[in-house]
Parts: sequence; C-alpha cells; structure tokens
Amino acid sequence: MSRPICARIDFTALRHNLNVVRNLAPQSRIWAVIKANGYGHGLLPVARALSGVEGFAVSSLEEGLCLREGGVRTAVLVLEGVFSREEVPQARQADLELVVHSEWVLEHLEAVKKITDWPRLWLKIDTGMNRLGFPPSRVQSIYPRLCSLSREPPGLMTHLAMADRPGDPMTRIQMDHFDEATRGLPGHRSLANSAALLNFPRAAADWIRPGLMLFGVSPLESVPAETLGLEPVMTLSTALMAVKPVKPGDAVGYGATWQAQRNGWIGIAAAGYGDGYPYHAPQGAPVRVGEGICPLIGRVSMDMIAIDLGPDPQPVGAPVILWGKGLPVEQIARCSGTIPYELLCGVAQRVRHEWRGFPVTEPQADHAASHCTLPL
Ligand SMILES: *Cc1c(COP(=O)(O)O)cnc(C)c1O
Repeated sequence: MSRPICARIDFTALRHNLNVVRNLAPQSRIWAVIKANGYGHGLLPVARALSGVEGFAVSSLEEGLCLREGGVRTAVLVLEGVFSREEVPQARQADLELVVHSEWVLEHLEAVKKITDWPRLWLKIDTGMNRLGFPPSRVQSIYPRLCSLSREPPGLMTHLAMADRPGDPMTRIQMDHFDEATRGLPGHRSLANSAALLNFPRAAADWIRPGLMLFGVSPLESVPAETLGLEPVMTLSTALMAVKPVKPGDAVGYGATWQAQRNGWIGIAAAGYGDGYPYHAPQGAPVRVGEGICPLIGRVSMDMIAIDLGPDPQPVGAPVILWGKGLPVEQIARCSGTIPYELLCGVAQRVRHEWRGFPVTEPQADHAASHCTLPL
C-alpha cells in the first residue's frame, strides 16, 4: 500500500453542478472559472469534463497555455491579463481573451504594434471593490483604445464584493455604477460569480462566471450546498496508519495539547498540513472514520493527524474522509477559520488525484500536465 491520501474527483457531480448553474441563468453564457488548478481539482481534467461550456476563465497566461497544450479549443479568458510585454504575442498566438484591468496592461498591449486583431478584450471596471479595474469615470476614454486593438467590441466586466450578502446594498450600488459607466456601449457584459448568481438574478447578464458552485460548494454561509442541489466534487480521503490505546492522562501530539480523560483508542491518519489539511483545524473538528464521525485531537502535524476513536478501536487501514461526500468542506473551513476556496485549492501537489465518473483519457498523464506550466 502506498501512502493512502487521495483526492477523488467525481465528474458526474461536476456535470450535475454545471446543470444546476445553467438552470439558474439559462440565458447566459458560462465562463467556467477554473483558475488555481481548477480550484485544486486538476485544470485539464476539469476542463475536459466541463466540455459544453462557452468558455473557461483562468488567472494567468500559464494556465491558459496549459489548456491549449491539453487540446482545449473553447474560449479562454485570462482574468489577470498579462504581466509583461513578452506575454502579449504568446497570449495572442494561443487565442486567449484578456482582461484589461489597468492602464499598464493596456500599455503592454499597445506597445506590441503588430497585434491589433485580438478576437475580444475585456474591459474591467472597478465599481467599488477596489481590487482590479478602471474607475467608471475612465471607461469612456479607455473603451475606444480597446476597440482599436480588437475585432469584436470589448467585453465589459466588473466583480462584486458583497454578492454573498443579499441584504446588503453594496451589490445594487455596484451594479448601478456598472450600468451607468457602460450605458450605450456595445459589447457583452459579465458581473456574476457564484454568489451573485444565487442572490442577484439581475447580475447574470451575457456571461456568468461561476467557480466554487461548479465544485459543489456553497458560496453562501447560511445555505448548505445540499439545499442548493449541489454535490461535492472532491472527496479528500486517507486511512488510519496506526491505532493505539490511551489511558487517562496520556498526551497526544506536539505540545501535548490533548490528554485522554478515560481509557479509549486513538487513530493516526495519514494526512497533515503538508497535504493541505488546515493546521488551524481545532480539536473536535469532525473527521469521518469508517461510517462514523470522530473528533480531531491534538495539533495537526505535517503528515499526520490524530483522531479520538472513543471506547472501541478501528482497524489500521480503516477509511478516513477529511472532507467531501458526507462531510462538507464548508464545515471544515468554518471550524478552521478559513474558507472552502482555500482548502480546495490548497490540496498539495503530492496528493494523488483520482478522477471518476466521466470518460477522461489518461487522467494520470493529465494530472502531470495540469501542473505543467504553473509557476512555482
Ligand atoms: C474567482 C473569480 C470568479 C469565481 O468566483 P466564485 O466565487 O468561485 O464563483 C469570478 N470572477 C472573477 C473575476 C474571479 O476572480
């Protein structure tokens, strides 16, 4: 047996979630957001399983090229644009669509004089999040510069900061700023991430940009994924590699932060922060062992965690689920003081991925390829 930790990726669930997304905005096209190695699920396998979407959104040129090298022909949108002039011809050659979010990105594009035939560029507008984008007041002057670089009218996009809070006025204010800034300009519009798709139907526009939801995770704190009809795509599992009895007073792990109160059994599972399990998972965090839920005890090590098995032992090799089917990653994130996004895309490279439920050719080779050009 090799080290048993494994991220099982269920493509049937992924396709199911895509349908849920489609039904929420049937009139919109979909940029499936698969940045950060497909939120940790494997860039290329995920792209192949999501065939049928109108496009894929990634963060960098490297990720875009990875898709092209893997044979993906669908539209690809690079959310962070280019970082240098050198990237401009590469991006054009690979037929990528770029987000132009700042003056200096536009200057890089304009500096490469011979490339004025971009299929489409996207003008990003900062409507209040104060991350990327031009201020609304500059849209009218930036827009024609993009027009002269591309064949199609520029796409118009913004990002919403508070879309997970339906009651907060900020999203409506952002959408109003967007409408005002883009009034009368031709071009496709795109505003909605997963949370906006659920909370603000008005944000759907021409293209939606769902990420997290596709992976079966709820973007809303108060609504479980199950209620939204979503199914978890990743199940991070491992096995018990040691089982031992403890008696009152016995301490477990670094810092001896947990001590047994009574006679019982503990299990050591092969998973730690070196695999992407959060170091800040507290004592009592739920871990699925066999058919039951047991509490995490002691500190998380790099390669191991300890689990309180209670009065009865479990066999070495008993299956352990850290998150996924039967144990939502949202729950682990919440108790560890983080967000599910971080846990999913933080699954370490050393964790074996297994893809199931959808025909994908040579998934193991794909996995290697899915990391091929990601910067280290
Ligand atoms: C990551 C990202 C998304 C997707 O967000 P989710 O919350 O995962 O749906 C959409 N748009 C932009 C610009 C992003 O960076």
